[in-house]
Amino acid sequence: MSDVVKTNLLNLDKTGLQEFFAQIGEKPFRASQLLKWIYQFGVQDFNEMSNLSKNLREKLIDIAEITPPEIISEHRSHDGTIKWVLRIDEANYVETVFIPEADRGTLCISSQVGCALDCRFCSTAQQGFNRNLSVAEIIGQLWIANQALGCQPREQRIISNIVLMGMGEPLLNFDNVIKAMSLMLEDDAYGLSKRRVTLSTSGVVPAMKRLKEVSDVSLAVSLHAPNDELRNEIVPLNQKYPIKELMQACMNYVADEPRRKITFEYVMLEGINDSKQHALELAKLLKDVPAKVNLIPFNPFPNTRYRCSSQTKIDAFRDVLVAKGLTTITRKTRGEDIDAACGQLAGQVMDKTKRKQRQQDLGVIR
Ligand code: SAH
Repeated sequence: MSDVVKTNLLNLDKTGLQEFFAQIGEKPFRASQLLKWIYQFGVQDFNEMSNLSKNLREKLIDIAEITPPEIISEHRSHDGTIKWVLRIDEANYVETVFIPEADRGTLCISSQVGCALDCRFCSTAQQGFNRNLSVAEIIGQLWIANQALGCQPREQRIISNIVLMGMGEPLLNFDNVIKAMSLMLEDDAYGLSKRRVTLSTSGVVPAMKRLKEVSDVSLAVSLHAPNDELRNEIVPLNQKYPIKELMQACMNYVADEPRRKITFEYVMLEGINDSKQHALELAKLLKDVPAKVNLIPFNPFPNTRYRCSSQTKIDAFRDVLVAKGLTTITRKTRGEDIDAACGQLAGQVMDKTKRKQRQQDLGVIR
């Protein structure tokens, strides 16, 4: 049967698995059994699935597989952060980062190979874009991290939180991201609460509206500037979806849930967006929005022209926001010694957009 293309079951959400079993004449409850084996017990070998008949196991061996991406290397930071480089295909690699804290363990997952957006301060942007990750390549990052940490989620939940803040813009890989997130939330799979799964977007407004219709995970928005003039420059997507539309989409996302808040991410760039005036403008912008602000110290990468604001500047910025009544925290930089901090994930991308080449030609980067 070696010429048969096997179905990678990691590509199927619960509905997809039910359809898969219907097609081979099996009952829908098989989907729940498979989800438990794969995600709660971390089992990859159909022969170990003891509540399936021998017949069914043999059939699955012929037509299906459970194949996550392969770990190429593991990097451990002095602060406990771990970065895995995963091989996606011959030419492309993405990165996944585990960040342990006292009260939680967060896995930062990538959604695309590179990124088609061009945020000026982000290392992934410099890599250009190759393609969307499949469902298997997204949920596979969580599967692999659990294996690498030596735990199965059913027994011991080392990974308690997921953030889609790795490489890529998750809302530009909408369908696959939604399916992967449904497996994170699904009781038969990882069973995480919606508060512990956070999708971060640079503000793809139409997709934020769609997201609300199909999911209710926590939302983080990469704002980084309090006005269109500056945001157009550092987050070019703003030219398409300006701040006013973005704010409406944010309000819409939390509209019928009074206690929910949107996290606004704001990278601190020296001399660019970090003045007291900027802070006042930001406070005004978020005045009526259910918001939390996350200040992110800028993490440098090769060939960037930006620098991180000083600690004094970051503290002063925070104090202005807090005085205006905004919940504000400064994100602790983790894993910078292994290039695993926010905006430092680069992997290896066969750039189809030729962005890197163009920038090199223009002398913007080396
Ligand atoms: N594309 C999505 C998710 C990936 S980025 C988004 O834009 O939200 C995750 C977060 O890291 C975003 O807030 C992003 O703006 C921020 N980031 C990017 N580059 C950074 C850098 N060099 N230093 C600090 N944060 C950065």
